[in-house]
Amino acid sequence: MRYSRIPDETIRRLPIYLRGLILASDQGKKKISSSKLADFVGVYPWQIRKDFSYFGDFGTRGVGYNVEKLAKEIKRILKLNVDQKAALIGVGNLGMAILAFPGFHIYGLNIAAAFDINPKKIGKTINNVKIECASKLNAIKKRKIKLAVIAVPRKAAQETANILLKAGVRGILNFSPCYLVVPKKVKVITIDIAMDMARLPYYMPAV
Ligand code: NAD
Repeated sequence: MRYSRIPDETIRRLPIYLRGLILASDQGKKKISSSKLADFVGVYPWQIRKDFSYFGDFGTRGVGYNVEKLAKEIKRILKLNVDQKAALIGVGNLGMAILAFPGFHIYGLNIAAAFDINPKKIGKTINNVKIECASKLNAIKKRKIKLAVIAVPRKAAQETANILLKAGVRGILNFSPCYLVVPKKVKVITIDIAMDMARLPYYMPAV
């Protein structure tokens, strides 16, 4: 099911709620109120209630949310209830760290393939993923991989994206510092830690 008119900001917060619910579940919590969940994840309780209101009623007033049920529901909305396979392109400093990062599976995400052009890297296995030659990138179509992470130098990013699109990729997490041109049906999320850090000084108290 595709929900219409859901603000991007709401979709952006759903994984944050999911992480809070997973942490709550790890602590043995079965129920959680919107104010407790809000404390846990650092938003206002009204924001949580408003976000959830787009998808129907998730809780009973005064009783709170069933942690397991709500986590399952959020996973379903985000389509994380099925194993989502992703390919990583560019296994350099950043790509290595991404391959080694254990946090993806919590969300049902699985970096199932990795590609590079450097012959010294091709054939090596990191975290059970064998690095393949980037010339074989179009093979991901047969493996039904629809997500990709781009961690190549900027000059190679658009060409990489073009190959990925032809191979049927529909979602790209882009770490290269550039704007990727893609058709509307493809979603690109560009991550730039420097840009996030650049917002921090604004919030610092004046001395
Ligand atoms: P790196 O040079 O260590 O690694 C790049 C890797 O990409 C290398 O292994 C190289 O062989 C490979 N590569 C080059 N062309 C390729 C191609 N066409 N197909 C497949 N692999 C290819 O660089 P890095 O430090 O890992 O950074 C990677 C990218 O991520 C850069 O664009 C960098 O600017 C960016 N970056 C972004 C952030 C962020 O916050 N968004 C942080 C760090 C780095």
